[in-house]
Amino acid sequence: MQLPDYKEARKRNKEVVEKEYYSIDDSIINIGLNKKYYVKTYGCQMNEHDTENIKAMLEQLNFTEALDQEDADVVILNTCSIRENAHNKAFGMLGRLKHLKEEKNKDLIIGVCGCMAQEEKVVEEIMKKYKYVNFVFGTHNLHHLPYILNEALKTKKQVIEVFSKEGNITEDIPVKRANRYKAFVNIMYGCDKFCTYCIVPYTRGKQRSRDKDDIIKEVNKLVKDGYQEVTLLGQNVNAYGKDFNNDYNMENLLEDVAKTGIPRVRFMTSHPWDFTDGMIEVIKKYPNIMPSIHLPVQSGSSKVLKLMGRRYTKEDYIKLFDKIKTIPNVTVSTDIIVGFPSEEEEDFEETLELVNYCKFDNAYTFIFSPRKGTPAEKLEDKSTLKEKEDRLHRLNEIVNKYFLESNQKMLGKVVDVLVDGPSEKEGLLCGYTDTNKLINFEGDSSLIGKIVKVEVTDAKTWSLDGKAK
Ligand code: SF4
Repeated sequence: MQLPDYKEARKRNKEVVEKEYYSIDDSIINIGLNKKYYVKTYGCQMNEHDTENIKAMLEQLNFTEALDQEDADVVILNTCSIRENAHNKAFGMLGRLKHLKEEKNKDLIIGVCGCMAQEEKVVEEIMKKYKYVNFVFGTHNLHHLPYILNEALKTKKQVIEVFSKEGNITEDIPVKRANRYKAFVNIMYGCDKFCTYCIVPYTRGKQRSRDKDDIIKEVNKLVKDGYQEVTLLGQNVNAYGKDFNNDYNMENLLEDVAKTGIPRVRFMTSHPWDFTDGMIEVIKKYPNIMPSIHLPVQSGSSKVLKLMGRRYTKEDYIKLFDKIKTIPNVTVSTDIIVGFPSEEEEDFEETLELVNYCKFDNAYTFIFSPRKGTPAEKLEDKSTLKEKEDRLHRLNEIVNKYFLESNQKMLGKVVDVLVDGPSEKEGLLCGYTDTNKLINFEGDSSLIGKIVKVEVTDAKTWSLDGKAK
C-alpha cells in the first residue's frame, strides 16, 4: 500500500527525469475477458486525456466499454481536485455506486484515480469510510493500472498505490481517442509555479517536459491518421522545456508542431509569466496555429495577485495582453477567481476595470474554493459568501456583455469551421471557428471532420448561428 504525502509532493529535486516505456505482461492480458468497464471523468482536459489512456489500457486487457455504470463490471472515477464542487460530485457518485454494489451487483469493482487520489485526506477517508472502493491509484501511477486492477481482482482487498514523488515520463501508453478529428497531446506534466490557491503542484508533481521528438512523432501520426486539430496540453505549457538542459522551449515546439502540417494547433493552459514575445511571433507566422489564447488572469488587483503567488501585476498582464492583441484576429479568454481571501471591494473593482479594458472573448469565473493543504487555505477571509456571490453576479453581467459583443463582431463574416458533428439544436451541425467560437449551422453530415466555410448569420452570448457556404 502506497499513500499520498504532501510533504513529499511539495519537494522539488534536481533528479533527472528518466523516460520509460509502457508494457504489460502477457499473464494479465485476459483479465477483462467477458467483462465491461465504465470510466466517469471529472475536471480538465488533462483528465479527459488520462481517461483516453485508461480506456485503451483496459481494452488491452480485453475489457469492453459499457454504456453506463449499471452495465459495468469495473467502474473507475477519474477525479478532479480543483474546486470543492468537483470533490462533492465524485463523493456523490461513490455513494450511488455503493447502492449499486449493495443492491444490484455485489461483484462490482470500483476504482478511484486522478487528482483526488493524490490528496492525503481523500485517501484516508476512502480507507476509513469507503471500504467498498476496491482500488485507488494516483496520477503518477496511471501506467500501473493493469497491475493494480489485477491485484484488486485477485486479492479482493482494497489496493492503494499513490506515489507522492512523481516518477519518470512513461511513453507508449496506449490511447483510445474520444474524437476522430481532434486530439489532445500532452507536452508536459506537473507544475512548479505553486500559486497559493492551487492543489495541482501537489497532485501532479514537479514539471516534467516530454522530449520534443516524442511529441512530434505523436503529432505526425495524428496527421497521417487524418486528424485536423491537436491541442498541446499541460498545466503551464508556456514553461515547456524549462526543465531541459538546453534552450529548446515552447516557442520552438510550437513552430515544430506547426511545421508538421496539422491543420489546427491549439495549446493550453498558459501562465502569463512564461508567455514570450517569441511565442507571439511564431503564432503570427503560422496560420495553422489558431489565434485563440487562453490567458488566466485570476484577479485585476496586484495586491491579490501577489497573495495568489501569480508573479505578475495587473500592469504586467495588460502589457502582455496588448502584445497578444497584435496577433491578427486573435481572441483571448481568461479565468477569474472572485472572493480570494483578503479581496476587498476596491480589489474587486480593479478586476472589473481590467475586464472592461480587456473585453475578454470568453471567461470562466468562479468563487474562491479553499483547497486543503495549500497556503491560501490559511489566509484570512475578508468577505462574506453573500458578498462573494454578489461580486460573481456583477462580474458575470459584464463578462457576458463582452462575449455577446465579441460574437456580434462576427456577423456577416465567413469563417473556417472544423465540424464536430450534430448540434444539440435539432437538424443542425456544430463546430468551432479558428477563434474557438461555437457555431451551429445547416449542413450535410458528410462535412463532419472537415474544415468548411460558414457564414455567420446570428450571434448569441454563447454561440453563433451560420450557413455553410
Ligand atoms: S500555474 Fe496553474 S497549475 Fe500551476 S500552480 Fe498556478 S494555477 Fe496551479
